[in-house]
Amino acid sequence: MNANTKRKETVETIAADLKRNVVLTAGPSISTVEIDLVAEAVTEGWNTRHSEFLHQLQKEFAAYIGTRFAMATSSCTGALHLSLSGLGLKAGDEVIVPDVTWVASGFSPTYVGATPVFADINEKSLCLSAESVAKNITPRTKAIIPVHLYGHPTEMTEIMELAKKHKIHVIEDAAPSIGATWKGKRTGSFGTTSAFSFQGAKLMVSGEGGMLCTDDEELFKKVQYLNDYAVDKNRSFWISEIGFKYRMSNIQAALALGQLRRIEELVERKRLIFSWYQERLSHRSELTLCTEVPGARSNYWMGSFLFREDARIDTEKFRADLREKKVDTRPFFHPMSNLPMFKAIPEKNPVAYSVAKRGINLPSGHNLTEDDVDYVCAMIETTLGKPSPRKKTGPIAKLLLEKNKAVEQALSIPFKGGSLKLVTYASLDNASEWKELLQAREKLTPGLKVVKNQAEEETKTWLFQEILNPKDRALFWILDGSQKVRGIVGISKLSLDSERMEIDNIASLGSNNVSALADGIRALADWQRDFFGVKASFARIFSSETETIRLFESLGFQETIRFPVKKAVQNGSTQWREVVKDPYHECERYLVTLKRKSG
Ligand SMILES: *Cc1c(COP(=O)(O)O)cnc(C)c1O
Repeated sequence: MNANTKRKETVETIAADLKRNVVLTAGPSISTVEIDLVAEAVTEGWNTRHSEFLHQLQKEFAAYIGTRFAMATSSCTGALHLSLSGLGLKAGDEVIVPDVTWVASGFSPTYVGATPVFADINEKSLCLSAESVAKNITPRTKAIIPVHLYGHPTEMTEIMELAKKHKIHVIEDAAPSIGATWKGKRTGSFGTTSAFSFQGAKLMVSGEGGMLCTDDEELFKKVQYLNDYAVDKNRSFWISEIGFKYRMSNIQAALALGQLRRIEELVERKRLIFSWYQERLSHRSELTLCTEVPGARSNYWMGSFLFREDARIDTEKFRADLREKKVDTRPFFHPMSNLPMFKAIPEKNPVAYSVAKRGINLPSGHNLTEDDVDYVCAMIETTLGKPSPRKKTGPIAKLLLEKNKAVEQALSIPFKGGSLKLVTYASLDNASEWKELLQAREKLTPGLKVVKNQAEEETKTWLFQEILNPKDRALFWILDGSQKVRGIVGISKLSLDSERMEIDNIASLGSNNVSALADGIRALADWQRDFFGVKASFARIFSSETETIRLFESLGFQETIRFPVKKAVQNGSTQWREVVKDPYHECERYLVTLKRKSG
């Protein structure tokens, strides 16, 4: 790209950015369906019609989830509290809760004096791990609260089996998961009770609001009674125990009803938004998008990803950088057991603690357009820096894209009397080139499982996997002045931010041609210095290959260290393993590291 084009692009980007509002993580979709219902509720929903929208909402909601009963509440938190209270939980009882969740799920047991016990989660689904639940069950365990986090359903099968076996209640925190299913069954229909949220950031909104669902008629009557201040229906204004008031208003119910009637559309939209992210971010090697586990259908309330552990990215810094670019994101929830009121509980859930640090919620509001997602992803790529290679392109694309130099320059490295030429995937389709490659490989590692006498395709696949596809590897032909192949030479540990690179895969072709190899090695080491700015080039050679060592020494490489190695045959292939030198026996050979300092 020339300087003018680059400048023009920069100016255009700045201009577009100035016009752009912050892309937010959440936001509802409100249509005339909701507006009309709310207008009706606000004008007519009083006196004899004071609960009409509430009743209609509860009826339609229960039918949608597939439970016998549903009671609208002022929040999911209220529905959880009522569930625990209705089930008679009390001080001394234990309730198993996933360590990573919104605090409402962990707080609710404390409202009835019970103790939350934090169990680990599965890294793929981000939801409660049945294995960890099993480990945490004690004689005092009275309930499990699985949380369908960010709209992904919990793997319910094993949790329900455990609950049945130990006669424990399951209270689903289905706050964000309306429309999600586990093995075809809707979340919120598994537990003794379930609790949903219609708070303003959720997929379905009523401003604030929630729903308690159950199939248990007696329990349902109990929670209705508790939600009416435990007023005794048989004695005028008499109350004999402590009750609560977590009720939803008729007007909010009208809004929720409108949303419920559009629920399939709302869920599909969220799933579409997430698919846009998948298209644009799947190739980034430093992150893993949180997708569905087998058996799950997520509503993708919040599209999320996890940074890979080895990417070592500071999520807070990443989020701050994005915020400057007008992109709002959310971190994952802190593990509950790490919060001050539960701090006494020792850190024991490794997945929860690891995931909580690495997770990011992407902007996922209903109002997002594909253009917005384009922008968000472009900003993510800019923030993360150089694009990681897309699959299939491998090291060659890495060279070309990341250094952003002209194609010719990266493909061909001239030296006096010849040049190095990058071996591309196309070499495998060239009848003579792939055979030369195979010949060089055989020479390099005699006895290695080179697939001789096998079908051509298999041999090519082997070559591809072994020497062309590895991410940190690039291979070059050594050509003479008349473009004839004289040998191969490769780079390994090709990482652009590293200050050192190795030279390997050195083999001559045709007659043994030491001077061609010398030319190739020298050109490659110089190129590593000039193109990548590495401080030193390295090579590791077996002590038995005295000629090759001498060759490297003649090019300014010096021995820095040698490790004793021992032969080990495993599954028919030979490996040389580093060993501790044993003073009583000769070691078979050494692996000699040679180094050439740049400059
Ligand atoms: C949103 C949310 C809640 C809280 O819902 P409220 O209606 O605000 O009480 C509880 N648990 C989870 C998992 C949530 O995502």
